[in-house]
Amino acid sequence: MTHGVTRRDFLKLSGGAMAGTAAGSLSGLGVDLAPKAQLATDLRIRDARAYPSICPYCAVGCGTLVHVIDGRIVNIEGNPESPVNVGTLCPKGAATYQLHVNPNRLTRVLHRAPGATEWEVWPLERAMDRVAELVKQDRDETFVEWWEGVDSTGNPLRKLVNHTPAIFSLGGATMANEWNHLQQKLLRGLGVVAIENQARI
Ligand code: SF4
Repeated sequence: MTHGVTRRDFLKLSGGAMAGTAAGSLSGLGVDLAPKAQLATDLRIRDARAYPSICPYCAVGCGTLVHVIDGRIVNIEGNPESPVNVGTLCPKGAATYQLHVNPNRLTRVLHRAPGATEWEVWPLERAMDRVAELVKQDRDETFVEWWEGVDSTGNPLRKLVNHTPAIFSLGGATMANEWNHLQQKLLRGLGVVAIENQARI
């Protein structure tokens, strides 16, 4: 038995009807449906210089292209020449531009004292001094020079450890090798042993 309309015909007809309906309703609203090819030549990256970079968010290390005009970032997108991501970016990486250009980004140090209800604007120097003061205080109060316990046979055991178990360091994937090197030196010097990076979690 044959049917008057094949499955292929049906799909063609229904697709055409939907397109016709959409086009009809848009032109009915006075919308010009002519191709917008001209817009493609007016992209904001037209006069930009592209600098290859790396997405700052995770350990995948996707390649990006940072478009710059007159020293200002105007766009960031995936680098098609990167063997890691061949031009693609996940939603986090695709939003990297907003990490740089964002009117909501905080540019002042805000401090809210214990029990206070209002934030206070602090100079950066004061905030850095306060952080250093608290780190030093915590470290000195919790520093352990010798660990004392028992070995596998139950005999007393004493080991030189020189560490503090009270401080934990969590690095970010935006940190450069040089920063990580200095941070390791500082933390190991303080006796911090719990050192981790966001990219590994
Ligand atoms: S956050 Fe996304 S875009 Fe960035 S490196 Fe990781 S996977 Fe790639």
